[in-house]
Amino acid sequence: MLGLMQDRPLSLPMLMNRMENQYRDKTVTTEQIGYVMTAGYGEVATRIRALAGVLDHLGVPRDARVGTFGWNTQRHLELYMAVPCTNRVLHTINHRLSASQLTFIVNDAEDDVLFVDRSILASIWPVIEACERVRHIVVMDDGADFPLPDDPRIHDYEALLAAAVPVDGILEVADERTAAALCYTSGTTGRPKGVLYDHRSIVLHALMLQLVDSFGLRESDTIMPVVPMFHVNAWGLPYAALMCGADLVMPGTSTRPEQLVEQIERHRVTFTAAVTTVWRDAAGFLDGRDLSSLRHIVCGGGAVPVSLSRHYRDTVGQPLRNAWGMTETSPVVTSARITTADRGLDDEHHLEVLAGPGTALPLTELRLMLDDGSLAPHDGQARGELQVAGPTIAGGYFGQTGRSEAVTEDGWLRTGDVATIDPHGRLRIVDRTKDLIKSGGEWISSVELENEIMADSRVAEAAVIAVPNDRWGERPMACVVPVAHGELTGDDVREFLRGRVAGWWIPEEVRIIDEVPKTATGKFSKVSLREMVLQEN
Ligand code: ADP
Repeated sequence: MLGLMQDRPLSLPMLMNRMENQYRDKTVTTEQIGYVMTAGYGEVATRIRALAGVLDHLGVPRDARVGTFGWNTQRHLELYMAVPCTNRVLHTINHRLSASQLTFIVNDAEDDVLFVDRSILASIWPVIEACERVRHIVVMDDGADFPLPDDPRIHDYEALLAAAVPVDGILEVADERTAAALCYTSGTTGRPKGVLYDHRSIVLHALMLQLVDSFGLRESDTIMPVVPMFHVNAWGLPYAALMCGADLVMPGTSTRPEQLVEQIERHRVTFTAAVTTVWRDAAGFLDGRDLSSLRHIVCGGGAVPVSLSRHYRDTVGQPLRNAWGMTETSPVVTSARITTADRGLDDEHHLEVLAGPGTALPLTELRLMLDDGSLAPHDGQARGELQVAGPTIAGGYFGQTGRSEAVTEDGWLRTGDVATIDPHGRLRIVDRTKDLIKSGGEWISSVELENEIMADSRVAEAAVIAVPNDRWGERPMACVVPVAHGELTGDDVREFLRGRVAGWWIPEEVRIIDEVPKTATGKFSKVSLREMVLQEN
């Protein structure tokens, strides 16, 4: 027997409703180049309706992908709503990727239209100019002085909005499983893979971030998402803010650490979130600032050093709180908090607890799988591959048919992380099985970097491993076997890579070695290589 409750789709127009009817006066403040842009949610909602009209005017079909190259701004927020609320798919793109990755991603997603901040256009123009399937390129003028190229596909965002016929009435997404947003993540074998969120997953995730035992986002908050809007929907924070009616502070291009700290002080930010590298870089700018408005600082996407968290507690009054997630998981799955089990522990222990990933949020489940396919106990000791399940977790990838290798037969996502879980459900990440390097919160694919290095005819073999780095968390180190000994230096390798991969992928350290250690089956043994290198250090 089915229940008799109303069958209403969990969809983003629900958030639109709240913006227009409940939170018209709540504000979005954006730092543009040389000026600050502030608008109430009521005005933003009006612009979202105009933007919906623009998409109609440009003839963007239902389900079409609308690519964005944008900083964290009010205009990007308008796209976050106008695109999915009109049954199109918002495709956020990381402009820091290499030209070949960007071309692949835009083509793979079959983006119909691109929206680009003018300051970003300068670095990516040659790439998008060559994307012939893109019918329109809408430039969002953020004050950058990059001259607009002569291309009939180019339009000005504000001019389109001013001329638009707004979409009035109810914005309707009939099926909550309708695709809403697409975000590519690094594949271990080189090719990025698209994670396709639906309305239901985004709404549930936004709701999860409001629980008091997670981030506790609320109407009285002023939320500053530092994590980019091109990276997993800025961890879902913009949608959560619209749902609960919090004010938003968008850093735009002002992302230097001292600028971030200054914005927290000036706008009395209460909640903010970024990766470890950002908080490490900002740590030197805290003295003499009044950051007492902060009630919760999330430091996610990687481990939190307890010493860094202590520094924040002592200077700002708030420790850093860790969270675990992936692009495939919307992303937040766990969040650190002090529970009743921690009663009686002193402040130092609390810092340690908050520096760990924490416990799973409601609606998500964790388990640990051993190599033999059995499940590991949650005893805080046994290690296994972390697998996750829930309505906010990917069940496959965009464009792939059949079951993905990343998903088990019984529908759990394999994360490629190795973890323990204690009897209170507390997660600890202890290792990684995927061959990726996380530098400053962004991925570098070892395999792709190796392929690029081996494209040099002077190179016989190359293996890339992650080495710990204070500032970036990890950096790639290349171990290279030359064809002819004595004729290739580390600098030659770095020089060869310039222009072939994004600048931040180029390893600072290149070791010239005699041989890459191999496994029994002849594959590179990264484990032995890492041991060899660490011993030499
Ligand atoms: P995000 O950077 O938003 O977490 P990605 O998909 O880029 O999303 O990266 C996910 C991966 O980052 C995880 O599989 C894990 O390897 C690593 N990671 C994320 N959060 C943590 C954390 N709190 N502690 C350790 N590693 C983490």
